[in-house]
Amino acid sequence: MIPAQEILSTVFGYNEFRGEQAAVIDHLIDGKDALVLMPTGGGKSLCFQIPAIAREGTAIVVSPLIALMQDQVDALLQVGVKAAFLNSSLDSETAWRVEQDLLDGKLTLLYVAPERLMTSRFLQLLEQTKLALFAIDEAHCVSQWGHDFRPEYVQLSILHERFPTIPRIALTATADDPTRREIIERLGLSNARQFISSFDRPNIRYRIVQKQNTREQLHRFLETEHPEDAGIIYCLSRKRVEETAEWLCAKGWNALPYHAGLSNAVRQKNQKRFIREEGVIIVATVAFGMGIDKPNVRFVAHLDLPKSMEGYYQETGRGGRDGLFANAWLAYGIGDVITLRRMLDTSEADEQHKRLERRKLDALLGYCETTFCRRQVMLNYFSEHYTAPCNNCDNCLEPIATWDGKIAAQMALSCAYRTGQRFGVKHLVDVLLGKPTEQVNRFQHDKVSTFGIGHAYTQAQWQSIYRQLVAANLLTIDMSGYGSLKLTEKSMPLLRGEHTIAFRNDPEVKKKKAKSTAKRGNNLLPAPDDAFWQALKNRRLELAREQGVPPYIIFHDSTLQEIHEKKPLTLNEFVLISGVGQSKLQRYAEAFMEIVARY
Ligand code: ADP
Ligand code: ZN
Repeated sequence: MIPAQEILSTVFGYNEFRGEQAAVIDHLIDGKDALVLMPTGGGKSLCFQIPAIAREGTAIVVSPLIALMQDQVDALLQVGVKAAFLNSSLDSETAWRVEQDLLDGKLTLLYVAPERLMTSRFLQLLEQTKLALFAIDEAHCVSQWGHDFRPEYVQLSILHERFPTIPRIALTATADDPTRREIIERLGLSNARQFISSFDRPNIRYRIVQKQNTREQLHRFLETEHPEDAGIIYCLSRKRVEETAEWLCAKGWNALPYHAGLSNAVRQKNQKRFIREEGVIIVATVAFGMGIDKPNVRFVAHLDLPKSMEGYYQETGRGGRDGLFANAWLAYGIGDVITLRRMLDTSEADEQHKRLERRKLDALLGYCETTFCRRQVMLNYFSEHYTAPCNNCDNCLEPIATWDGKIAAQMALSCAYRTGQRFGVKHLVDVLLGKPTEQVNRFQHDKVSTFGIGHAYTQAQWQSIYRQLVAANLLTIDMSGYGSLKLTEKSMPLLRGEHTIAFRNDPEVKKKKAKSTAKRGNNLLPAPDDAFWQALKNRRLELAREQGVPPYIIFHDSTLQEIHEKKPLTLNEFVLISGVGQSKLQRYAEAFMEIVARY
C-alpha cells in the first residue's frame, strides 16, 4: 500500500496534511468508520480521496449535488485518478459504460446520487464489486430539521447492513449538536470515531459597514479591494437582485443576477459563467450557493441582513475556500432591522417558531452591533470557545469607541413618546433636528418638547442611535403602521434615567467625509496590472476552455500565485510548487514555464 503522505505529494502536489486530515485518513485506511465535521474549505475531500487511492477496490461517494460531482470528478481526472459519476444527468449509454468500468474494477472513486445508489439493481452491482469504502458527503442531508433534508439519505443506513465490513465516512460542514446526533443515529454511526475541527475560517475578514448610500459604498469596496475578483453579492429580494445587477453592469462590472424567479436556463447559464470565467460577480438571493464549490470566491457581500447567524456563516463561508484571503462585507442599517422584524411578525408560522426566529435575529443583531471581536462573538454563538483578538475583523483592526448615550437615548425615546409612538425614524429625527417638514407642520410637532433639541448630533448619528436602540429592543417596531417606533418595557428605566447605555461610535458616521483609505486588504494576489500575472491567468483560462473545465481545476489561484513568486524554470523546480503533482507536472509545466521564461 502506498503511504498516505506519498499520495498527498505525488498525486495532489501538497506538502502537508491540514488539521485532522492525517488522523481521519489513517483511521479510514485501517478500515474503521468516521464522522468528520469540518468547515467549508477545511479539506474534507482528501479525507476520503486518499484512502480511496490507498485501499484496494472502488470508493463509493454519495453526494446530493450533481454539479459538484462533475467538478470533483474533473479535478480527480486532472491529477490522474480514475473517477466517474452516476446521476440523472447521464444518458443511459454513458451510465452503462460507467457501470461496466465499476464491475471491471477500473474505478478508484465513483460518485453516486443517493436515489440511484438505493436501487436494488445498483446494490446488487455493488455486491459484485470490490469496495474500498463508502463516503457520505453532505451528511447533514439526513437531518429533518435542516434545510437540505433528502429523504433518500435516511435509507443510507442500509449500506452498513449490507456491507458491514466496508468502512464508512460521513462528512459535513454543519456543526450543531442536534444535527450531529441525527447523523449518528440515522446512519448507524454510533461506533464511528468523531473528528471535530474548529469552525473558524481564519482567512475570512468580517466587516460590517453602516448603510449610508449602499450602492456607492459597494462600488467603492469593489473598486478599492476587488477590482478583478470573483464574488457573490447577496440581496433579500429578487427585485433588489435585478436592480443591483443592472446598476453594477452600468458601472462597468461583470455582474450577473441569480434568483428563483429566473428561468432554469438563465440560472444555469449565469452559474456556469460564474464558475467557468474569471472575475464574474454574481448578484443573488440565498437561492444561490448550495453546491457551488468555486474555491476562489474572493468576497461575499451582503446588501441586506441575513436572517440568522447560521445563514450569515454559511453564506460568508463560500468565500476563500482555497485558503487565500477573502472579504465578508455586510452593509447594515435600521431599514434591515425593520424589514426582517416585519417579515417575522407577519409570517404564517406558529408562535413557538416565531419566538425561535426572533431569538436568532436578535443574536445576529447583537453580532452586528458588537464592539468586540466579531469572530469571537460568532464562534461563541456556535458554542466554540475562541480567544480574541483575531486581528482579522473590523472591530479588531479598528477598535470601536463607545460613548455614554444616556442623554441621547433619553431624547430619542422621549421624542417617540411625545409624538404618540406613531412615527418612524425619519420623522423622529426631523423633529429632533427641528426641521419644519410638511409632516412636522401637519401634526404640529414643532410644538412638542423634543422639537429641535437634538442639534448636538447629526442626522446620521441619530439614525445610528435609533438603530442601536431598536437592535437592543429598547424600541420596537409597530407592524400595523409604517414602521412606527414604540417604547418597550425595557425603555422606561432608561427614560427615567435609572440606567445608562453605551453606543458604538460607528466609524462611517464619525468621519463622514473622510476619504476611504482601504487597501486591497490582505489580498496578496498580484495586482491586476501585473502583466506576468495576467499572462499566467490567461494561459490557465485557455487550457481550461480547451478541456471544458473551470480554470481552478487546472490550477488554484494559490498555485498560480506561487508560480508567479518562485518563477520555476525547470521540472525539478516546478514540481515543488504546492498543487503540482506528477500528473499536472506532465500536463502543464511546459505551458507555464514558457510564460515564466518570457517574463
Ligand atoms: P471542503 O470540501 O471541506 O469544503 P475541499 O476538500 O474542497 O474542502 O478543500 C478545500 C481546498 O483546500 C481545496 O482547494 C483543496 O485542494 C485544498 N486542500 C485540501 N487539503 C489540502 C492540503 N493538505 N494542503 C493544501 N491544500 C489543501
Ligand atoms: Zn476580531
